[in-house]
Amino acid sequence: MSIQLLSQDVAGKIAAGEVVERPANVVKELIENSLDAGASDIQVEVGEGGQRLLRVSDNGCGISSHELPLAVQRHATSKLRCPEDLDCIRTLGFRGEALYSMAAVSHMTISSRPLDTEAGAELRIEGGAIVQQRAAGLPVGTAVSVEHLFFNTPARRKFLRRPATEAGHIGAIVQRYALAYPHCRFSYRNDGRQAFQTSGNGVVEDVLMKIHGRETGQQLLPIGQLEQGNSGGEEIDFMPAPPSPPSQPSAVMVSGFASQPTFTRANRSQIELFVNRRYVEDRSLIHAVIQAYHTLLPVGRYPLAVIFIEMDPADLDVNVHPRKTEVRFANARQVYGTVQRCVRRGLVVGADVPRIPMEGEEPPDSTGSVAGGISTFPPDRSSPPQLPFVATDLPLPASDILPAERGPQTEPISPDDLPATAAQTLPPLRVVGQAAAMYVVAEGPEGLYLIDQHAAHERVLYERFRAQRKDEGMTCQGLLEPTPVHLGDIRAGLVVQHLAELNAIGFEIEPFGGDTLLVRAIPSLLSDQDALQVLDDVVQGLAVERDLLGEALEARLVKMVCKRASIKAGQVLSDIEMKELVRQLEQCRSPRTCPHGRPTMLQLSAGELERAFKRT
Ligand code: ADP
Ligand code: MG
Repeated sequence: MSIQLLSQDVAGKIAAGEVVERPANVVKELIENSLDAGASDIQVEVGEGGQRLLRVSDNGCGISSHELPLAVQRHATSKLRCPEDLDCIRTLGFRGEALYSMAAVSHMTISSRPLDTEAGAELRIEGGAIVQQRAAGLPVGTAVSVEHLFFNTPARRKFLRRPATEAGHIGAIVQRYALAYPHCRFSYRNDGRQAFQTSGNGVVEDVLMKIHGRETGQQLLPIGQLEQGNSGGEEIDFMPAPPSPPSQPSAVMVSGFASQPTFTRANRSQIELFVNRRYVEDRSLIHAVIQAYHTLLPVGRYPLAVIFIEMDPADLDVNVHPRKTEVRFANARQVYGTVQRCVRRGLVVGADVPRIPMEGEEPPDSTGSVAGGISTFPPDRSSPPQLPFVATDLPLPASDILPAERGPQTEPISPDDLPATAAQTLPPLRVVGQAAAMYVVAEGPEGLYLIDQHAAHERVLYERFRAQRKDEGMTCQGLLEPTPVHLGDIRAGLVVQHLAELNAIGFEIEPFGGDTLLVRAIPSLLSDQDALQVLDDVVQGLAVERDLLGEALEARLVKMVCKRASIKAGQVLSDIEMKELVRQLEQCRSPRTCPHGRPTMLQLSAGELERAFKRT
């Protein structure tokens, strides 16, 4: 066959195949155009799942009548000028092919009136051919109607799902943009019915409540806080400081909301990511979010999260696919690590404080939490992002970025690396009793508390360890008689290799030939424990944590020892024991989470009780 240039008709259909797979893609492109045009009000109307009608109108800058025919040509855009512009894309669109593509496979009408003109104009295109242009009296802004989508591509049409399904996809698109652009008012009408609407007040929480409902909204914790660098005031006992980076690429900022660990979903479809306010699909970053919940989620359960990542557009390539939902990062590891740590931090801090404030409620004081600051994020597009409470991050050493599918060392932050906040401390509590041999029931000025005795004791022991280490060094308790233990060659070898770390946390051990070790002393905090049992656990931990070294390993060992030494679930406690536990917990800096980040307690406020009993 001889080589021929494709006819415009065929070329248009091919382009449309890439950009427009289903009605929701049309809506996405049209909304993006409206946002790029600076609209503050976007209305989406759909008929029969988008097959009969898709219409997006905005109050943006408009298109002048003489440019209307140009706008629907391929590679026609007002958003790029020179090749360099491609390296630093600040608009949602840039390829100049969305209008062209959708016009090729539908009957399209563009009506537009720019701000500074008296009247507007209307352009009609059918299957890519302009059939009419006329002047029209119109409000300022642009409306694009796409009718009879895929009328000339029957194969595509066949793949469309039921109208309700397509309308659902469209709704999801509208909701995503409403989240990323809370300052813009969105309305979505489906077959004449108002299906979704936002106020455009700039408050992301309000949009989240609209999308997920109030109950779910209240399960969401704000993400994004100034990263506390290891040099920043608070001393972090056990975490090694990262070596300073060789060069300093620009910051990556992360904010958003993520569900409490107790609130889970059956799949990961509700983890939504936005990069520079573009919705993106990125498996690796979704994984970063899930990793942030490490050990906090039941197997096979996933969080709900909306994560906004802001970065210098020069560090980002969005020109990967015509649909522009894939991106490439110049420093993917940095982004991964920042997302993971910020989400983790949000979970740890947020587990302590009230969730998103209800309508009419004051946002919580933002000493430790960030709910107040997030509400105005993302900021107005016209101004560069100024994020009051976002996490910034600089590149990490490779060892700090946690590769996928790795074991339990993927825990870059612990609650103890965060400064204590007023929100975290406990009021004096009165013990009421024990439930299920697992929970201590207590009451305080702010309601009822169910305290997980194991997690709480773990916390108490952990803080004692830390305090001791800081003040006087670990105290150890000599055993009455040095005790020989036989661990097998491999495990004995591990212990010998880590004598220094074990010694730092209070174990005195010496090799005694072969696979035998002599234990002379154990940490005094564990004096009432079976020393050999504890050592056995620690050695098991060493076997798992082969990649950890020095202080990081030490931190891990301490947590393990605390876990081992703490009161177990199922242990019946006397009144005195419970009182003592609660008293010790009250004195902790972070009493509301265990060293692994799980909550130590559930709190039912007096208000919640009243509401639950319908007393109000
Ligand atoms: P791109 O968005 O990649 O530039 P499109 O085909 O989506 O390509 O749009 C082509 C051009 O038409 C845009 O660059 C813009 O100048 C103009 N345009 C499209 N939609 C609108 C709108 N809603 N308001 C103002 N201008 C618009
Ligand atoms: Mg566009």
